[in-house]
Amino acid sequence: MAENPYFVWILSLVNFGIICMAGLFTYESIREQERRASKIGAVLLCFHLLLGLVILSWPASRIPLAWFFGIALAIQGLFLIPWKRGSRSLKRAAGYLAGDGSQFEPMDERATMFARNRSLLPDTPQYEEYYRMHPEHKEYDERRRAKGGPLGRPGIIDSCYKPNVSMLVSSFELPNMLGRGARVNPGAAQARSSYASKESATAAKIDPAKATKIVKSWAKHLGADLVGICKVDPRWAYTHRGEIHYGEWDEWGKKIPEPLPYAVVIATEMDHSMVMTAPHTPSVIESGYNYAKGAYITTILAHWFGAMGYRAVAEHNRHYDMLMVPLAIDAGLGELGRQGYLIADKFGPRVRIFAVQTDMPLIPDKPIDLGAEKFCEACKKCAESCPSKSIPIERQKRVYRGIERWKLNEQSCFEYWGKVGTDCCICMAVCPFSRPYRSIHKLVRFILRRSELARILFPYIDNFLYGKRWKPRKEPDWVEYPKGQPSAEAVSSQGLG
Ligand code: SF4
Ligand code: SF4
Repeated sequence: MAENPYFVWILSLVNFGIICMAGLFTYESIREQERRASKIGAVLLCFHLLLGLVILSWPASRIPLAWFFGIALAIQGLFLIPWKRGSRSLKRAAGYLAGDGSQFEPMDERATMFARNRSLLPDTPQYEEYYRMHPEHKEYDERRRAKGGPLGRPGIIDSCYKPNVSMLVSSFELPNMLGRGARVNPGAAQARSSYASKESATAAKIDPAKATKIVKSWAKHLGADLVGICKVDPRWAYTHRGEIHYGEWDEWGKKIPEPLPYAVVIATEMDHSMVMTAPHTPSVIESGYNYAKGAYITTILAHWFGAMGYRAVAEHNRHYDMLMVPLAIDAGLGELGRQGYLIADKFGPRVRIFAVQTDMPLIPDKPIDLGAEKFCEACKKCAESCPSKSIPIERQKRVYRGIERWKLNEQSCFEYWGKVGTDCCICMAVCPFSRPYRSIHKLVRFILRRSELARILFPYIDNFLYGKRWKPRKEPDWVEYPKGQPSAEAVSSQGLG
């Protein structure tokens, strides 16, 4: 039987499509310094180029190849079938509560690792009071405090390379300066600003839909990459103040005021090439820079609410009244991941989260389902790469303080920060959801949002393509640090090696 003259062109066209995809995948992988994925992409590319020649020069191969392409396309089509979605994030952060939620215990800021490490000073009444309440923390905290603040000796993994450590230190100066202005009352600007009207600070009448549009656009204009709004669930507020940044010691142990009814939650994207150097200093520079950005954006937003005649509280690195991850889930920014970070839309865990509480009526967003919960069950990449083994590797979650989740061992994680002198970031860098939001990765995220089958199988495909082991990537040249072992002084003072 004579062959249809279009047959060869259809086959060649399908093969050409695969060549383009393989080429794009290889290009992106080289750009992302993913060596294993680049090699696999290159092999696939060569194979299909060769297949193109076979199709054109060997007619007998065309029927079997048509079957091969047909079956492959049919399998890919299975990933496009939408399934019923069951992620707990769709019930907002309350969806992660175990049972009827009655076991839930709110969080006391005094008990956080940061507050214990930097706000409990030996020989002070606060120190005595805290360890009377929690003697179980004393031994660990004293040992860890002896190694320094949250980052131990900053940048020690890179021999405390001064330009990099100074970038980190300078970034944290901004939240330090802005923390005092986090709580804003109506008309606060009227008392200070020569630009504000001196009339009474009555709340401006504004339609909630209009206000929502303005505040979201303003936040994005200021530099936020994601913005969502939620009604504030008071369960996510800290109970008592524990972090002291400005010597306001009479605040320590005080009850945190009732939260305001709404929150604007923002996320800023951390630069991929900086994060991929984890646990080296460029990754912590990027954390510091984003904390500065978050403090800047939330302070301006909070003062905008104040100038409009409403109350507001900026939530950033030097002032937290609330837990950011549940607030972000409620505002439709993402889901909870295995390592305890937010897996945000578009950027995965490669974000920092901030918020502004306010009593200006706004329109809340709906929660979202990215497929992260199911994906995390099989993936485990963060748990396998964590140098301090702080992330649970089991498939099943456990109940902790009434929340069903994978519970990070904060003490061993914090211990590791003290060893390397950075905030590590490996679990953020290694996460497949952290890959840059472009081309092939965008397509993968699109499919994951819709297909249950993709959530089950993609973790295995990701492991095959990218491997499981973490290896820091080459840093951008402007943050290049001296290579080799940390200095002898650094090693002896921190117990490295
Ligand atoms: S690395 Fe894998 S298991 Fe860990 S948070 Fe990311 S997707 Fe989940
Ligand atoms: S930050 Fe580092 S040490 Fe801490 S959990 Fe993540 S990978 Fe582990």
